Amino acid sequence: MNSNKKITIIIFSMVTLLTIVIVALVALGSRQSGYDSAKKRAYLTADIVKKSLTSHMVNGNMDQRETFLEGISQLNEVNDLWIIRAKSVSKQFGQSKLTNEIPRDEIDKDVLETGKEEVVIKESLTNATLRITIPYTASSQDKPNCLSCHNAQEGEVLGAISLTFDIQEDRISSIAVLLNIIAIISLFLIFILIYISKKIKPYTTSFDSITEVLKQVHEGDYSVRAKAGVLKEDKEASAWLNELIEKLETVLTGIEKNLTAFVHNRSINVNNDKLLSAKEIIEDISEIYNYKKTIETDLTKEDIYYRLIQVLKDKLKIQEFFIFETDLIKDERKVIFATKDTTPCCNLSNNIKERCRAERTDTIVSSENFPEICRLATCKNDTKHICIPFLINDQKNVIIHIICHDQECLKHVKYQIGIIKKYLEETKPILESKLLMDVLRERNLVDGLTGLYNRKYLDEFIDRKLPFELREGTTFAIMFLDIDYFKMINDTYGHDAGDAILQKLAQTMKDAVSENEFIIRFGGEEFLIIMKNPTEESALKLANKINQDFSKLIFTFNNESFSKTVSIGYSFFPTDTDQIWKCIKFADLSLYEAKDTGRNKVVRFKKDLLKNKDTSSY
Ligand code: GH3
Ligand code: MG
Ligand code: MG
Repeated sequence: MNSNKKITIIIFSMVTLLTIVIVALVALGSRQSGYDSAKKRAYLTADIVKKSLTSHMVNGNMDQRETFLEGISQLNEVNDLWIIRAKSVSKQFGQSKLTNEIPRDEIDKDVLETGKEEVVIKESLTNATLRITIPYTASSQDKPNCLSCHNAQEGEVLGAISLTFDIQEDRISSIAVLLNIIAIISLFLIFILIYISKKIKPYTTSFDSITEVLKQVHEGDYSVRAKAGVLKEDKEASAWLNELIEKLETVLTGIEKNLTAFVHNRSINVNNDKLLSAKEIIEDISEIYNYKKTIETDLTKEDIYYRLIQVLKDKLKIQEFFIFETDLIKDERKVIFATKDTTPCCNLSNNIKERCRAERTDTIVSSENFPEICRLATCKNDTKHICIPFLINDQKNVIIHIICHDQECLKHVKYQIGIIKKYLEETKPILESKLLMDVLRERNLVDGLTGLYNRKYLDEFIDRKLPFELREGTTFAIMFLDIDYFKMINDTYGHDAGDAILQKLAQTMKDAVSENEFIIRFGGEEFLIIMKNPTEESALKLANKINQDFSKLIFTFNNESFSKTVSIGYSFFPTDTDQIWKCIKFADLSLYEAKDTGRNKVVRFKKDLLKNKDTSSY
C-alpha cells in the first residue's frame, strides 16, 4: 500500500471516529433533553391540573372535573392523562363517581405508597412515549392550603396524576439534527481528504519511489532508478539518490569485472549483491596478497606448506583434507599433510602419473556427480572426494585431496574452489623456487660417486636440525664405518675397482637402513650412519647386518674374485657425551679399536677406550 493511501486511511479513520463520538454525544444529549422537556411539560400539566382541581373543589363544582380533565388530555402531545385518588381522600369525601380515578397499574400504586414520582420511557422504532406519575402531597404551603379542606398530615399523599407523552417528535427532530451533523462532517471529511491527498501526493509518490528503489538496492539490484519528483525538493532527492546508485553500480561492476578474474572468485555468489561481492573480492585480494608476502619470506618448502595448510584450515574452513606431493620423475607420492583421524579416499603410492585422474588430466576431479569418477577412490556411501591438482614443475605435482561427508560440506568446498586455486597459483612460483633451491642444495650436499650425503650435509644437520631434534627428546646412535685394507684394492686393481667397491658398500648400507637413519660419506672410504632413537639392540643389529651383508659380496676384477670386509665403531648421543663432535670422535675411536683388534668387526664405544688416549683433542 502506498503512503498516500495509508495517510488517507489514517485521516479517514480518525475523523470517522471523531464523528461517531460527536454523534453519540449529541444523540445522548438530545435524547436526554427530549425527556427533560417532556418531564417539564408533565410537571406543568400536573400543576395546572392540581390547581384547577383545587379551584373546582373550592368553587364546589368538582363534578365538572371530568370535562376539564378530558380537555387537558386532548392537549397536543398528551396521549393520556388520569387522576388517582388516595384512599384517605375517598374516605374523607366519599368514593369518586369517576371509575377511572383508581390506580391503573403497579406504578400508580407505588407512587401513592411511596410519594415518589416514577418515570417510564417506552421506545420502539416507530414510537417513543414517556409515562410519568407525579404524586400530589398535602402541604400547608400550597395556595390555597390543602390542609384547609383535607384531613391529612403534612406531606401525606392525597393522590397522583399519570400522564403519557408522545416524544416521538422530539426524537425525530433529534435524529434530523444528527443526520445534519453527519452530513456536514462527511462533506467536510471528503473535502479534507481530497485536499490533503492532493497536497501530499507529490511527497508520498516520491517517498514511495525512493523507498522502493532503496529496497531494491538493499537487495542487491543496482540497476533501478528513482522516478523524478514533481516538487523541487524531491526532484533533488531523487537525482542525488540516482547519482549515488549509478556511481555504486559503476564501481561495483568494475570491481566485479576486473577483479573477479584476478582472484578466481568463488563459483557461486551466495548473496547476489554486488556490494557484498566487492567486499568479498577485496578481502580475498588482501588476504592473498598477505599470504604471498608471507610465503615469499618463508625459508623452506615445509614453511610454505604449513602456511597453505593454515589457509585451507582456518581461512577457507576446509574441514578434512590431505596434501599429496608427487615426484613425477621417481613416480613417488608423499603425504605432506593429513587431517587427524581422517582416512583419505586415495591410497595411491605408485604408477601415480597414469593412475591418478587429477594428475593425468590436470583438472579438478569431484565424485559429487559421478561417484566412480576415480576408480581408485576407496570412499563409500555419502563420503565424497574432490581432488585439486597443481603442477609445480616437471618434477613435482601437488594434489589437494578434500573429503566431504555431507551436502553442506560439498557446497562449501565448491564455493571455495576458485579461491583455493588462486592460493595454489600464488604458491606455485614460490614453491617452485624453493624446490629448485632444495635440488641445488641437495646436489651440493650429496656425494657424486655414491649418492650419499656428504660432510656438508652433516654440518647442516648439526647446525639446523639437531637442536630442534634434541628439544623434542630425540636420541641418536653414530656409526663410523671404514673398509678394511681398501688401499690395497686401488693398488692392485686400480682406482675404478676401488670406486666400484665404494658404491657397493653404499648400496649395502642403503638397503639396510630405514627411514629413521641417514648415511654420510664422511671422507674417502669412511662413512657415518646416524640412527634416530636407537636402542642398544637396534644399533648393534644394524651394524652387524651391514658388516655381514658386505662381507658376503663377491667382487671380480682382472678375473680374480674376492670379498671385502668393513669395520664399524659406534657410540650413542647424548648418552655417551652431550657434545656431538665428541660423540663422533668416540665412534671413530671405537672403529680404530675394531681395526686394532683384528678388523671386520663391530665395536660399541666404552669409556675404557679413552685410557691411554690423548683426550684433549675431543
Ligand atoms: P685400513 O684397514 O687400516 O683402513 O687400511 P686401508 O688400506 O683401508 O687404509 P686407509 O683407510 O688409510 O686407506 C684409505 C685409502 O682409500 C686411501 C685412498 O687411496 C683410498 N681412497 C680414498 N678415497 C677414494 C676414492 O674416492 N676412490 C678410491 N678408489 N679410493 C679412495
Ligand atoms: Mg680409512
Ligand atoms: Mg680402510
